[in-house]
Amino acid sequence: MNKSEILNPKSEIKSSGILFIVSAPSGAGKTTLCRKAVDYFSDLRHSISYTTRPPRQGEKDDVDYHFINKKAFQKKIDIGEFIEWAEVHGNRYGTSFNDIKSLLEKGLDIILDIDVQGARQIKLQIANCKLQIPWVFIFIFPPSLDATKERIKKRGKDTRETILSRLKNARAEIKEAVWYDYLIINDKLEDAFEKLKSIIVAERSKREKMIEQVKRLYGKVLGK
Ligand code: ADP
Ligand code: 5GP
Repeated sequence: MNKSEILNPKSEIKSSGILFIVSAPSGAGKTTLCRKAVDYFSDLRHSISYTTRPPRQGEKDDVDYHFINKKAFQKKIDIGEFIEWAEVHGNRYGTSFNDIKSLLEKGLDIILDIDVQGARQIKLQIANCKLQIPWVFIFIFPPSLDATKERIKKRGKDTRETILSRLKNARAEIKEAVWYDYLIINDKLEDAFEKLKSIIVAERSKREKMIEQVKRLYGKVLGK
């Protein structure tokens, strides 16, 4: 099926929340950073993706991912349930349109940890005005390609074959970083997290996000 046929959300999102889209090569520390951000900001949520990948040791269904089989995933594609989906390292991953919609409409911000293909699909929908929500694209780099290898190995949850395939993809993924809005090098975890926090705070402080609150406080002064 042509991807553009899938990327056709059925209903509009009336959002007051921001969509933070985070991508990185495997092992860069994206999951770690996104989790820290969700723990830190009470009004930031992680959208739980659907995947056909089997759970890693310690991963929980409906917490880390919604783990589903290939047939169930295909059905979700067919009914247009995904705002984006992609095949990554031999497994499929997708984000539910309705999950995103309901979180954003509650005024919550969302952090989406998705691969570069999925991020590109969202960017395309924004460019085509199919998706009208505040968005920010963030790319996380490992300090070096060798570091990713060590981190994936240290994580200790992937087979040798999986590690090799993830490392092979890393170069192609890094090439996509040029069109992201913010770039973070995750060398020291705490420094990288400070940067991620600063980006979130800065985006939340933009005029278009703040103006209603300011008008409530200073409506008379502003003459509104
Ligand atoms: P990703 O989600 O990008 O594949 P993870 O967040 O799972 O990566 O991180 C991979 C491994 O690297 C984990 O064991 C994690 O604890 C570790 N890690 C993450 N950031 C750093 C860092 N800045 N320095 C050292 N190890 C890190
Ligand atoms: P992992 O198997 O290590 O959890 O994730 C592998 C890759 O899939 C990562 O790059 C991760 O960001 C990406 N991924 C996770 N969920 C989604 C999703 O819903 N859509 C897309 N396109 N990629 C995802």
